Amino acid sequence: MTRIDLAIVGVGKIARDQHLPSIAGNPSFRLVAAVSRNAGVENVANYDTLAEFLTAGADVPALSLCVPPAVRFQMAWDALRAGKHVLLEKPPGATLSEVETLSALAAERGLTIYATWHSRHATGVEPARDWIASRQIKQLRIVWKEDVRRWHPGQAWIWTAGNVGVFDPGINALSILTRIMPHGIHIASADLEFPENCETPIAARLQFADPMGGDISAEFDWRHEGRQTWDITVVTDDGTLVLSDGGAKMAVDGATVVQGENREYDAIYARFADLLATGKSDVDIAPLRHVADAFMIGRRHITKPFYE
Ligand code: NAP
Repeated sequence: MTRIDLAIVGVGKIARDQHLPSIAGNPSFRLVAAVSRNAGVENVANYDTLAEFLTAGADVPALSLCVPPAVRFQMAWDALRAGKHVLLEKPPGATLSEVETLSALAAERGLTIYATWHSRHATGVEPARDWIASRQIKQLRIVWKEDVRRWHPGQAWIWTAGNVGVFDPGINALSILTRIMPHGIHIASADLEFPENCETPIAARLQFADPMGGDISAEFDWRHEGRQTWDITVVTDDGTLVLSDGGAKMAVDGATVVQGENREYDAIYARFADLLATGKSDVDIAPLRHVADAFMIGRRHITKPFYE
């Protein structure tokens, strides 16, 4: 099999923890370049800026953008204009319009653009979707509570406008929600808590309107120091489903149905290879739209300053 040469842009936590191992383990890809302001990757060509790579790496057909969302648009735009297929980390952009502009450019140029949602590849998500499909949802509760100091140490960008704050993990829950829901729902009200020294929220509570009558809500909190919680509980007319550990485990009425190790990024690169082979794109903005709606409709509460 001919491997697809690939570059990685932004060598931070997620690039090191997930992208590099998954690329190395996928026979469809060969990592040949990295773009980083501060770091490097061994045994590949390293560039300080995307512009340098786009000039020198004209024969590399694809790249993965692992930078924060607020700086991703211009990089994706420049890469597509240079003829590269583009994989976007989540969230795919700082605004909905950015993502639509990129999608249109990719379509115009006949290139693949892939807006990834890694949590959708967690083991329990597809079984949960199948289980819910034939039942009526009475209540769905998302509880995504984690300690930002533990998971995002030193990442000052998360507190700046365009980088969505607690929605950075929260959008993972919304990506699962928009996959497992059998019909459309929308945010009816939201409460967002902004530390007085930050531009993005540290906590959010969302209440959804469900035309089928379900009581659907989400609670995101980055100040949580106890047991870290990434759970979705779905009460239906025929049993209660719990997706826990970010979707890795699914249980029904207390009994585990599926539980798997984290292979989310392996699935992302398998999907990217498939999209490249078939000349398709995959851009679903539904999770980002809920975040945009929360910012649009949400009540803002100023809370005590946050210091890491
Ligand atoms: P990170 O550790 O801060 O890495 C981001 C990298 O982007 C930086 O190391 C930097 O790489 C590059 N960069 C370029 N311009 C930047 C700028 N203006 N400000 C900050 N960094 C800039 O962040 P991360 O956790 O890897 O997150 C990156 C993206 O992956 C985010 O969209 C996040 O939502 C997503 N993600 C993260 C996780 C996670 O667990 N951390 C999980 C899933 C998805 P260079 O120094 O190499 O230029």
